[in-house]
Amino acid sequence: MKPDIKSQTLEELQAQLKTLNQPAYRARQVTEWLYPLRAVSWEAMTNLPRVLREKLAETFGLETLELVTKQGSRDTTQKFLWRLADGSMIESVLIPANPALYGEASDRHTLCVSTQVGCAYGCRFCASGLEGWKRNLLPHEIVEQVIAVERWNAEQPGPMSAERVINNLVIMGMGEPLANYDNLLKALKILNAPWGGGIGARKITISTSGLAPQIRKLADDPLQFRLAISLHGATDEVRNRIMPVNKKYPLRELAAACEYYQEKKSRMITLEYILIAGVNDALDQVKPLAELAKRLYAKVNLIPYNKVEDLPWERPVEEVQEAFASALTNRGVTATLRREKGHDIDAACGQLRLKTERKLAAAPV
Ligand code: SAH
Ligand code: SF4
Repeated sequence: MKPDIKSQTLEELQAQLKTLNQPAYRARQVTEWLYPLRAVSWEAMTNLPRVLREKLAETFGLETLELVTKQGSRDTTQKFLWRLADGSMIESVLIPANPALYGEASDRHTLCVSTQVGCAYGCRFCASGLEGWKRNLLPHEIVEQVIAVERWNAEQPGPMSAERVINNLVIMGMGEPLANYDNLLKALKILNAPWGGGIGARKITISTSGLAPQIRKLADDPLQFRLAISLHGATDEVRNRIMPVNKKYPLRELAAACEYYQEKKSRMITLEYILIAGVNDALDQVKPLAELAKRLYAKVNLIPYNKVEDLPWERPVEEVQEAFASALTNRGVTATLRREKGHDIDAACGQLRLKTERKLAAAPV
């Protein structure tokens, strides 16, 4: 199979074009077509000689994502379900920084991207892992989620369309990002590069369920990505119940890896904590959670659980959520209780894909 052109760094493209006896400026012309101009075909690249376009088409793929469905309205959270070249489906979610409470459009957006088809980690509460792991995404399939949403936005009527919409990336869609380490890092380098996506590394947050060795590896990478840990339990007892990964990398090991990251990057860690009724919302979790947050200089994001069809878990009532949040704050921890966005459109990872696949499976052929 041909490598895709959006999996190539500028340096790789330059080297390839050199073998084709092209002048040095050609690689930049190509990246200009791919990123700011978001071209979907070789024919569109009109300032490249026709023979070169043909040569590029022989050497590289130029895949784009096919939009299967989109949920949500322009000013709120919008969820995109994409079909990849092999027919697999993945999701990306576009979240406005300030939901348009007063009817004004928000111009700052975060895009949540997927890194795998399915997930092998099987956290008990999560829709992404329900049907197992299918495959890793290739770098261009991660990059193209950003480009495809920008392309979609540019096609919409209205003032927002002229400008780019995505200024923040969270790697919190389907899949465990650090289990697809090399492809993810390559994609993020392309998305971060000034010739590519142009998104600052500090505006990119990678979320992991706790792969300790890969956290250490990421700490040694020169780029300053932010790190979010899906903690969801502050003791091994609670984490073991809901996250099988904790058996492999128990809290002691995870915390040590996070400490290493914190030392290298300083104050770049967030602890994510979904509140699930009767599972991890008792106040006895607060003390160990606060201790860990302080040790890592981390803030805590509390997220009320998003109900998943077929799973028994529920979110606690609001009083319980608030009591948990204030108990943390009282211990001197910076904690936010997320009034989560997109609850109504299945924004939690993996849910839209699961529903669509089930619908397709049930549909008469
Ligand atoms: N695999 C990575 C990134 C993808 S999951 C990770 O686990 O961190 C992104 C976040 O969504 C994680 O914090 C995950 O625990 C959370 N999540 C999964 N299912 C959820 C649900 N039903 N409600 C709320 N958050 C959920
Ligand atoms: Fe995978 Fe993250 Fe879902 Fe766990 S929470 S199953 S690691 S996607």
